[in-house]
Order: sequence, then structure tokens, then C-alpha cells
Amino acid sequence: MAIRYYSTNRHVKNMAGITPFTGDVSFKEALLAGQAPDEGLFVPDSIPQLSTNDISVLRDKPYWQAALLVSQAFLSEEFSPDVLEMIVKDAYNYPVPLEAVYPRAFVLRLDQGPTASFKDFAARMMARWMSHCRPEGERLNILVATSGDTGSAVGEAYKGVQGIDVTILYPAGEVSLMQKKQLDTIGGNVQAICVDGKFDDCQNLVKEAFADRELAGFNLSSANSINFGRILPQIVYYVYAYAQLAEAGEEVVFSVPSGNFGDALGCEYARRMGLPVAKLVMPTNENDEFPVFLTTGKYSKVSPSRACISNAMNVGHPSNLARFFDLYGGTVDRVGLVHRYPDLDEMRRRIFSVSVTDEQTRRTIKSVYERYHVILEQHGAVGWAGLEAYLQKTGDKKTAICLETAHPAKFPDEIKNLLGIEPEPPESLKGLARREGGAINIPKDFASFKKYLQSHLKIRK
Ligand SMILES: *Cc1c(COP(=O)(O)O)cnc(C)c1O
Repeated sequence: MAIRYYSTNRHVKNMAGITPFTGDVSFKEALLAGQAPDEGLFVPDSIPQLSTNDISVLRDKPYWQAALLVSQAFLSEEFSPDVLEMIVKDAYNYPVPLEAVYPRAFVLRLDQGPTASFKDFAARMMARWMSHCRPEGERLNILVATSGDTGSAVGEAYKGVQGIDVTILYPAGEVSLMQKKQLDTIGGNVQAICVDGKFDDCQNLVKEAFADRELAGFNLSSANSINFGRILPQIVYYVYAYAQLAEAGEEVVFSVPSGNFGDALGCEYARRMGLPVAKLVMPTNENDEFPVFLTTGKYSKVSPSRACISNAMNVGHPSNLARFFDLYGGTVDRVGLVHRYPDLDEMRRRIFSVSVTDEQTRRTIKSVYERYHVILEQHGAVGWAGLEAYLQKTGDKKTAICLETAHPAKFPDEIKNLLGIEPEPPESLKGLARREGGAINIPKDFASFKKYLQSHLKIRK
């Protein structure tokens, strides 16, 4: 039976202006819609199971085989085996290193993709799935608003993908020079638009475009982080890492530096598919709404969110918390209102969370380098500090794997200050200076944006 997807808001009552969506959709429908009609997040109605043997045969196999196993488990009713295999082979053409820190403790480096961020993993698979579910003979037009790294991961992922064009909007004054270069020079079917405004203006332009009737014929779609298509690929690397490092059936601990909780959610699903995960460690930076919730049982978002050096994790109300709550029997909505609390005891059994300050983060970057000669950047360091806190508190001796979510060369100043060295950039970042291309500049009013879209977007091949 095919898996169906329903909304995390289906039980919500009396929400202003919103009628709970109580239906269900296919994966392809969820992929193209992004969000449920009631602003909830799509979640699968059942979780496929992997056997011990399914997992252990992945040892010493290329990464794409793990991706094929997981995508087949979820999608075999909606995509042919050939298509799924072609997609994973095409998406994962870069290494996924597991670096030993000390015996039985490892860093899983998810920083070798085209934008040196773990977001490449999800965006690349999602782009290819979308290419295969667009209307026959038509093009899809993806609109993305970004304040930085997500936009380039999405843009790179869709580059050269058949039948899809991508328009990325970013705020003129709010991206770094390196980010601007990354966004402006992707080229091909990906166009950057530099908006004379703030990130919120970019988001509003995209929202208005989706609501505009005259643009309805352009097959507009989004690629935002709440799409279930961004979550599914993030299950794979837990299965892959486990298969390389653990004996069949052995329990392990994963530590996942967390912002919007999409990455950690991949681990939660992997465990529910049968991966022996003893504990999911989810450290946050100073945006501590979740560790406070696990301790006190009361949820209140951090608003406005706190600006920490692990800036991709500056989230005061993680969007994927709605999916975590749903999995543990609760409901929380987009604005952070809890409609029903989840099973807290069960959550505490499975998940450990702790808030890591910027000072601890910097100290961790230094100490891990000095003791083990392993270079972490600030996001991975939050993960490592959280793992150490967990191991110290519990005395757990299981095999532990911490995710490094970005390449240290993306933060040369921070690393140079702390360690006195300049990390060698990966190939993807080395070529950046030589890349050419420019953004289109527009003011922040919708009329200009609409005019641009109407004169540039294509519907037919
Ligand atoms: C997005 C991001 C994170 C946080 O991942 P979530 O899925 O939002 O929890 C961590 N590190 C880096 C480098 C990121 O870009």
C-alpha cells in the first residue's frame, strides 16, 4: 500500500481563519504543494521498515546505494526502480567522509557537496524528484526567497535539472560577499534576483507571486525547507554511517546540531524505520526553546531569535517541531502555539537536548583541534559540545557519531582567529572566484517582480 501524507494540523480546532486539512495526499502531491492547505506540514501515515540485513549489506558500498534503499522504501509505489536509481546516482557524485576522532567517536562530514553544506544532500534529491513529477511536456518554475545558504544549495541542486527553472530572491544588504557570489554565478536555468529590501520583502514577493491569479499559469512551485521532499533524503546518511561503523544490531548515538530540526528529524525517522539509535542528541545554540521544553515540559518559542555564530541555527521556533510533536502524539502550530502536548517521557527516553553558548562553541572548536587534530566549524562544534555533554552526563560508551553540517573553509575568519590556520577549501569553493555571472536588480515592489516573471518565465519546453 502506498504511503499517504497528512497535515500536522489535522486535529487543530478553532484556529483563526484556518480549516484543518483532514485529507491525505500522495508523495508527489506533497512534493509539489510543499505545505498542507492548512499551513501544517505533511507527514507520512506509516513508516516503512528496514531489516538488519538491508542495512548491513550497505557496508563499504557507495553512498547512493543507501539513498536507493531509503527512497525505494518510501517511494516504490510512485516512482519506477529505474528512475529512483538514476536519481540517486546523479544526485550523489561526491564523497561522504567519516572521520575518526577517537576510538568509537566519529564526525560524519556532510560538507563535500556543491555548496559545502549538508543542505546539498536534500536539495539535490528533491530537485530530481520534482523533475519527474512535473506536468507532461511543461516546465516548473521554482521561486525561492533566501537570506543566505539555503538559496545557493537549492540553486546548485536544480542546476541543469530537466524541465525546471529556478528564480532566487535575496536581500541586497543581508548576504555576505561570498554568498552573493555563490548565488549570482550559478547560471544556466538558475537566475538570482537581488532585491533592494530585506529578507522579509523577498519572502513577501514570493508569497504574493503564489497568490497572483495572472501568474497561476506558470506552474510556480517552492523548494522550502518544510517540504517532506527535503526530509526524506536526510534519513539516508544516518543509515549509511551506521552501516559503515556499527556491527549488526549494535546501538549507536547520533548528535545533530539543530536549527529548524529537519536534519534531526531524518534521524528520528531512521530510528523508526528500524535503525538501532539509542539516543538522538539535538544540541541547539542559545536559541534554547527545545532543551528548555524537554526539561520543564512547557514550550515557549524564543522571539526574536538570538543571533549566534552558528547562524544557520538561529531559529526561535523550529518549523519541524510540528513533525516531532506529531510523532510523539502532540500538536504545535506555525506560530508556536501548542494545541496538544506530546508524550514527554517517551521524548526524553529517545532524545537529549542541550543549549550550547557561543563561548562553549568556540572553546569546542579549539579543544577538538588541539586534542584530536579535527577541524570543526561552529555548527559542527555545537553538535560536538552537545555530544560531550550527553556522554559526560550519562557515561554512555556506545559508538557516537556527530554530524558536521558545513565546511570549515566557509568560515575562514572564525577558524583563523581560533586556530591560527586557514582551512583548505573544497573544490566547490575553490572555483568560486573564477565564476562569472550577475544578478538582476529589482526594487521591492510586487509590480516590478511580476513584470520580470511575466517576461522571463517559460511554461513549455
Ligand atoms: C541549516 C543548517 C543547520 C540546521 O539544520 P536544521 O535542519 O535546520 O536543524 C545546521 N548547520 C548548517 C551549516 C545549516 O546550514
